[in-house]
Amino acid sequence: MWSEIIRLINEKQRFILTAHTNPDLDALGSELALDEYLRSLGKEVTILNSDSAPRLLRFVDPDRRLRTFSPDRDQGKIDRAQVIFVLDASGGWERVGRVGEVLAARANRSGKEVEVVCIDHHANPVGFADVAVVNSDAAATAELIFDLITQAGGALTPSIARWLYLAILTDTGSFRFPNTNLQTHRIAARLIEAGADPMQLYKQVYEQYPLGLVRLKGHVLNSLQAGAGGRMVWSALDQETLKAYGATPADLDGFPGLGMQIGGVRVSLLCVELPRGRVKVSLRSDGSLTVNGLAEKLGGGGHPSAAGATVEGDLAQVTAQLVAEIEALLKSF
Ligand code: AMP
Ligand code: MN
Ligand code: MN
Repeated sequence: MWSEIIRLINEKQRFILTAHTNPDLDALGSELALDEYLRSLGKEVTILNSDSAPRLLRFVDPDRRLRTFSPDRDQGKIDRAQVIFVLDASGGWERVGRVGEVLAARANRSGKEVEVVCIDHHANPVGFADVAVVNSDAAATAELIFDLITQAGGALTPSIARWLYLAILTDTGSFRFPNTNLQTHRIAARLIEAGADPMQLYKQVYEQYPLGLVRLKGHVLNSLQAGAGGRMVWSALDQETLKAYGATPADLDGFPGLGMQIGGVRVSLLCVELPRGRVKVSLRSDGSLTVNGLAEKLGGGGHPSAAGATVEGDLAQVTAQLVAEIEALLKSF
């Protein structure tokens, strides 16, 4: 599975790593781990994302390896790249955002000068890559990066172990989502052996929130609405409320799943108002039905039990429409 990618790593010198917009810890951890591995081989590596890391995740990048795409500064690097790794974003260049457009243009005009490699655990058909490893049995893209580095004979340094562990910890909701399996725990054990400290990393992600954000969680819990005879819950957050709690949409990791704590709930929906008349939709399910179909219909995507999309529209209208769609979905399952 990895031989083609390992061949490219051995033969080429200049690499660009990228991931999806609004990067999460799976995207960032996978990039940073692969970056360190490639640099240990003497390769020239640039991580280029469309968006910067959310403030609560900046701790992952003490050496400031992450770069937010800036057209003037980065075009030269893009023109000289020999391999582009697209991580945690098999949905296509669009999922990579504005740097995706520029990378796509380079890939399309260069013929075979640049190879595009996609590594992901979202089950998408990958038309845009020359080489793709897409495995939806993996709980996180970081599991696949673990595989690649170990298959290639690379060392699991303590920092690589920490990045991969953080990615798996968060993409599995602390090892509890339906994507968590035996292999996930086996890899986690190897990462702990290699230097990842579970308690320290958990604290770093889940016990360093500003007070306002924890209070906002209380607000969301208080505002949960139930429907479909208690089988679904939803909540909507407007810009004004976010501001009042000193929060931004990028801070809300974990919020969409809050309603899943309630017995009998099969689907949880969170709608968050974004600037300029857009709404970020997050869907979670208990595994008894799939929600990514609904997210795809809205132009987004995701996993069977965790999916999302960003849509144009008014917060109340989008929420009401989604509530109706989920009620219909529940009837069919
Ligand atoms: P979120 O609700 O933002 O936490 O996202 C849950 C899952 O849905 C993640 O696996 C994301 O990769 C996916 N997802 C969220 N938003 C989008 C989008 N706009 N396009 C494609 N996938 C998305
Ligand atoms: Mn991700
Ligand atoms: Mn992921």
